[in-house]
Amino acid sequence: MQAHEGHYIDGAWRPAAVPGDLIDVVNPATEAVIATVPAGTADDIDAAVTAARSAAGAWRATSREERLAALTRLRDGLAGHQDEIIATVVAELGAPRRLAQAVHGALPVAVATSVLEVLAEFSFEEKVGNSTVYAEPAGVVAAITPWNYPLHQIVAKVLPALAAGCPVVLKPAENTPLTAQLFAQFVHDAGLPPGAFNLVTGLGTVAGAALAGHPGVDVVSFTGSTAVGRRIGAAAGQNIKRVALELGGKSANVILPGADLTRAVKTGVGNAFLNGGQTCSAWTRMLVGEADYDEAVELAAKIAEGYAPGDPTDRSTRLGPLVSAVQRERVREYIRIGVAEGARLVTGGPEAPEGLDKGFYVRPTVFADVEPGMTIAREEIFGPVLSILRYRDEEHALEIANGTDYGLSGGVWAADPAQAAAFARRMETGQVDINGGAFNPAAPFGGYKDSGVGRELGRYGLEEFLQTQSLQF
Ligand code: NAD
Repeated sequence: MQAHEGHYIDGAWRPAAVPGDLIDVVNPATEAVIATVPAGTADDIDAAVTAARSAAGAWRATSREERLAALTRLRDGLAGHQDEIIATVVAELGAPRRLAQAVHGALPVAVATSVLEVLAEFSFEEKVGNSTVYAEPAGVVAAITPWNYPLHQIVAKVLPALAAGCPVVLKPAENTPLTAQLFAQFVHDAGLPPGAFNLVTGLGTVAGAALAGHPGVDVVSFTGSTAVGRRIGAAAGQNIKRVALELGGKSANVILPGADLTRAVKTGVGNAFLNGGQTCSAWTRMLVGEADYDEAVELAAKIAEGYAPGDPTDRSTRLGPLVSAVQRERVREYIRIGVAEGARLVTGGPEAPEGLDKGFYVRPTVFADVEPGMTIAREEIFGPVLSILRYRDEEHALEIANGTDYGLSGGVWAADPAQAAAFARRMETGQVDINGGAFNPAAPFGGYKDSGVGRELGRYGLEEFLQTQSLQF
């Protein structure tokens, strides 16, 4: 795969401060090194933040129409290079091709279109009594993104920030820098002014930490693990910076009595295994009542076995490898812990899938008889592992659903959607799909509790990058 040797700073690819210091990009299916990218340092970050600060005045002064025109060109660039995007995400993330088309290629285009719609309509000025309140760009944005939805997460931060009038410095995950480099190329081709968008690749502990703590940054928008989010939040607090944190999850899929069990279980397993289970909003806990429990477990096992791991370049594959050897070992260890703590392994397990001795594959795994206190019911696993829990009645189901440190997403199924919605309104979580309601790229996305602070997408996503000034007359 073609990779840039430098960082994208101030409108051009520039040599890294320490040119020989490189990160290997590994194809998770073949374990081959497919490219190298620069491991950025604090000096690279400083150059990128300086470029962003220099561009800030001109970019904030652009009109709504000018930003709309530039971001439409960028959206069209994304839409026009789908094959290249999909091939890159398949190669560096191991996402199966069919899934890659929908969620790694098409979804970012839908999100970009939604940002354009919000920008076209947004009211940057409001009268409140004798005041005029202005929504102003919040300043230089540091965007730090994970590897699991590499392009979606970049688009969900960078486009609203630019739409708000903020220049951006992006530090993408070290596992998936090639998608980020492609994005930078589309920004370049869209003719955005130099410095409005900058990219520095590198390690989280070096480039990421330097960016999150840089005094020239006004807003830190981070998506990743709760552990790193805590550190970034602390640094932002110390420096009095705005911060948005999109963190982990342990979401519940609650199947109430009378629901369409087959649909609920099928959609639930698909959701838990989406992107190899490497999805922050995955419904990793399935909650089923006594009467439906055994049938649900049997169904889930059968459906899970249909997710045979395989070559992500094959169009029929539904489950690719995990992103890295580290991630594979982490997930296998959780499966061992599940067994050791007494959960019933219904299908899958910690062994390598048959016939796949190369690649970071994990068997699709379903546990039944999972108790709320077990490690696999509490901690985010980030792999194809589903835990099925049993509840006695609705109150018990709610107690289990809310009995987690996280609160990002969830699902509720019932014969009557109003009953499901009433249950969902009592869940401590940012998004809930009722009877399989479809993902909406304009709906606010973000967490309660340890799943984070702030919201992405739609109007709420734009507002993360705005601050207000009021004039009194
Ligand atoms: P991670 O926290 O290790 O890394 C995320 C990003 O932060 C990467 O770019 C990394 O280089 C950087 N980073 C790491 N240490 C840093 C530090 N000390 N200072 C600054 N930056 C640092 O997470 P990951 O393993 O890449 O991603 C998986 C996690 O992300 C999961 O926990 C998942 O739930 C979460 N996630 C959340 C959402 C959401 O929207 N809520 C979306 C996707 C993923």
